[in-house]
Amino acid sequence: MVDWCSPLSLKAFVGATLIDGTGSDPVEDSVVVMEGNLIKTVGKAGSVEVPAEAEKIDVSGMTLMPGLIDSHLHLVGMKTEKFLEERLVRPWQIGLIKSVNDVRDLLYAGFTTVKDCGSKGGVYLRDSIKEGVIKGPRILSAGPVLSQTFGHGDVHYLPIDWVKDMEGPFGTIICDGVDECIKGARLALREGADFIKITASGGVLSQRDRPEHAQFTVEEMKAIVREAAKVGTFVTAHCQGTQAMKNAIKAGVYTIDHAFYPDEKVVELARQRNVVFVPTLAIHKQIVDHGEEVGMPPWGVAKARETWKEVVENIRWLHEQGVTMAMGTDFLGSPLLKHGKNAIELENLVKYCRFTPMEAIVAATKNGAKACKLDHVTGTIEPGKYADLIVVDGDPLKDIAILQDAERIKIVMKEGSIEKNLSEE
Ligand SMILES: [Zn+2]
Repeated sequence: MVDWCSPLSLKAFVGATLIDGTGSDPVEDSVVVMEGNLIKTVGKAGSVEVPAEAEKIDVSGMTLMPGLIDSHLHLVGMKTEKFLEERLVRPWQIGLIKSVNDVRDLLYAGFTTVKDCGSKGGVYLRDSIKEGVIKGPRILSAGPVLSQTFGHGDVHYLPIDWVKDMEGPFGTIICDGVDECIKGARLALREGADFIKITASGGVLSQRDRPEHAQFTVEEMKAIVREAAKVGTFVTAHCQGTQAMKNAIKAGVYTIDHAFYPDEKVVELARQRNVVFVPTLAIHKQIVDHGEEVGMPPWGVAKARETWKEVVENIRWLHEQGVTMAMGTDFLGSPLLKHGKNAIELENLVKYCRFTPMEAIVAATKNGAKACKLDHVTGTIEPGKYADLIVVDGDPLKDIAILQDAERIKIVMKEGSIEKNLSEE
């Protein structure tokens, strides 16, 4: 029987070096007290009272930080890199079943929230995790992706009827004109979308378009933004070209993902409207380095190679402008784009785009929460927020790459519940 009068459980992490996700300096010998699923108090040992009844967890010598957030991935459970073939011979449901392992790997790698920017199965994974049937991070899922005909979400080499029925792994909805866009947005919401994902430019892994091509009109995107706003949510755009970014931001799109070619005007518009940018170097770099050997389509490999250098420079420039940037990988679950290895993007941001390790951590915590519009509940270790925390063996400020090693992610706590604990072994 439930005793409704029993107090919420109290736990306290003591002794760790705390990186709270706000960008503030680390606090050595810290105390973080949690009550139920929330963080209650945070501070340095001695300045924060540890209630006598709290269960103390000694994490001396470790780093305590917010759970990581990947703000752009796809829970499509791909098995190989041959996505042209896979889509034709492997039902999306098999990908969904594989994703059960992928989301567990994400959680055990320290990801307590992920933003699924389009998949057929993400909403089911989300609900199964909420039900406690399977283990995984908090998922914010777009459900099916909205694309114009001959857009990035269209599959240009397949008969159009095969693409538009939402049956592929990304569940694409093809829509053109304001009326169809309204209907597309409503269909996505009907599928269970937490937010709407659109493709506002061409891309690398779409055959006949290019990153600099603008897709959807401002009017079409405005209509989708309005439908999202009516139910209290927002729109995220796959958006690479300069004109596409201007169009999307003017239409009210909240996050600009990939962001290959920003300019001063894009930055100005983004500042006015508190837009969040989500670069995705991880997929790009993997395609450049290994796409050919693993049989990715040659046109995709060629576009990735052609754009890589300039994109890296542009993301570095965008970071220097001081806009809000969140960490995303665009990983799909295949061996090259493996869920659980997503923290490689923090290393990419440091290595190629002059982020400090602390800035990369903020991109993967506080700013990730912003990209999900969940910054009021997670992303930083502050009183009142969910206890989404990880304990890391080592100092990621000295070596950001250690976050990629799941063996060093000793404890994962999601909403106050310990989901992984290697420290007991
Ligand atoms: Zn994507």
